[in-house]
Amino acid sequence: MFKFICSLVLLSLAVLGFNEFQRGQIFKRAGARCEICSRSWNQGFYLECHHIIPLGDGGRNSVDNGQLLCINDHARAHENIAAKRVKEGDLASAKRNSYSARVIKSRNPRRRGF
Ligand SMILES: [Zn+2]
Repeated sequence: MFKFICSLVLLSLAVLGFNEFQRGQIFKRAGARCEICSRSWNQGFYLECHHIIPLGDGGRNSVDNGQLLCINDHARAHENIAAKRVKEGDLASAKRNSYSARVIKSRNPRRRGF
């Protein structure tokens, strides 16, 4: 039973993504700039923490697996992963990794898919 509860806790943590402390560390390490285009938080660009190795591929919620990206580069990174998965024929994974699908899902939990 204890193992089962631990698994549920770990699963929940994995689904939740980076915690506040990890996001802060990733933000500091990147100097509050997108790690691809260097757009800065101070210039009014919204920045997000990206999993370099996706959680679905065994990536972890760790600072080392985090990358600070602006919304555009974060979306592009996920669309590149999704396009690669489509080519590989893994449509379920493509859907999971698609940034637009994730945003739609987070804004409207009743709407699923693309
Ligand atoms: Zn960027």
